[in-house]
Amino acid sequence: MNLDTPTAVSGDSESAFCARNYDPLPVTLVRAQGVYAWDDAGRQYFDMMSAYSAVSHGHTHPKLLAALTRQAQQLAVTSRAYRNAQLGPFLRRACELTGMDQALPMNTGAEAVETALKAARKWAYAVKGVVEDEAEIIACEGNFHGRTLGVVALSTEEQYREGFGPFMPGVKIVSYGDAYALERVITPNTAAFILEPMQGEAGIRIPPAGYLARCAEICRSHRVLLIADEVQTGLGRTGRMLACQHEAVQPDGLVLGKALGGGLLPVSLFLAKRELMNVFTPGDHGSTFGGSPLACAVGLAALDVLVEERLCERSAELGKYLLERLQQIRSPIIRDVRGRGLWCGVEFDPAYADAREVALKLLAAGILTKDTHRTVIRFAPPLVIEREQLDWAVERFREIVESWPIGDRKELAAQAAVSA
Ligand code: PMP
Repeated sequence: MNLDTPTAVSGDSESAFCARNYDPLPVTLVRAQGVYAWDDAGRQYFDMMSAYSAVSHGHTHPKLLAALTRQAQQLAVTSRAYRNAQLGPFLRRACELTGMDQALPMNTGAEAVETALKAARKWAYAVKGVVEDEAEIIACEGNFHGRTLGVVALSTEEQYREGFGPFMPGVKIVSYGDAYALERVITPNTAAFILEPMQGEAGIRIPPAGYLARCAEICRSHRVLLIADEVQTGLGRTGRMLACQHEAVQPDGLVLGKALGGGLLPVSLFLAKRELMNVFTPGDHGSTFGGSPLACAVGLAALDVLVEERLCERSAELGKYLLERLQQIRSPIIRDVRGRGLWCGVEFDPAYADAREVALKLLAAGILTKDTHRTVIRFAPPLVIEREQLDWAVERFREIVESWPIGDRKELAAQAAVSA
């Protein structure tokens, strides 16, 4: 094996040294502020992705930066071997804003989902009386809860699973949006049903009206925990503090992440009703960095800014506007436009357009977006966005869609159909 790494010194060090677990769009970002980011050539982009909702407050929000630097200069990391003065106030605020009793701090979304799964299993044995090692978790087809080993056991996406088995047992999958399917698979061993109130990575999928409320009722009547993964939908993204609130559903367990770190740090929480959180005893679970003074100071400031700047309300109002404007664009390449809050997905007809190609054209026009599964483009701008900025982005998108070379594609599609 040649241990020299010539490419490392010849320019593209990311390709040389970084594992190929992502396929990023060809732009190197070096700076950002508010809804804008700049690349290494000084070119400005409008961020319509917000790092999958992690940057809901906008880039480098001054109040969040101030909280970060103030706390970093004072005390950043303690581990949970000691108490710290920032943890209590942060968790109290998170519980107040979500209607939960207690919270367990972690860092990434996937870790907080793992925490939820551990809590649910232990609750099943310690409280519900399920026989040891028989607990079941129900998840939805098309879900995305992260990519750690425990979490991919819930996944129905072939790529997330292939080559990584064997998987955690005790998982059942039901189709998303079908409450009867959920009721049919519940057994006395069922510990929890985990779901995203809207599926993000599956392509901004909105379940039928009444689905969440019906699932909550079914879970309650069968003594099954309802766990909402609001890592992406939570904290204003869909126009409410929590997407569950669209149907007045209060879950037993709640997972938050992404925007909780104010676009500056990884901060996540598993929040729960007291009966569920009580299953944890010292040593059961933990994280060196979870709940650090730095993470808590930024998390608390992120929650405060969300309320002070009415970001949930802004998301609801501007989101409605964005959806209407996107729906006004008429083109045969668009199959569907859907969304809630500042979270819209445009689905393309694969015969005419590959969503990644659309994302590349948007990039060339100065807009950062991302495709999911090559069929959907998402628009998820920072919630601090202004209406005129949305107008600008929609216009660029409209120009791209309306000038899409449909004629050639039609021929290609027809040829493909004949040869298939
Ligand atoms: N749950 C949901 C609903 C998500 O969208 C994501 C990330 N896209 C995760 C969990 C995992 O979060 P992280 O990447 O921070 O582990």
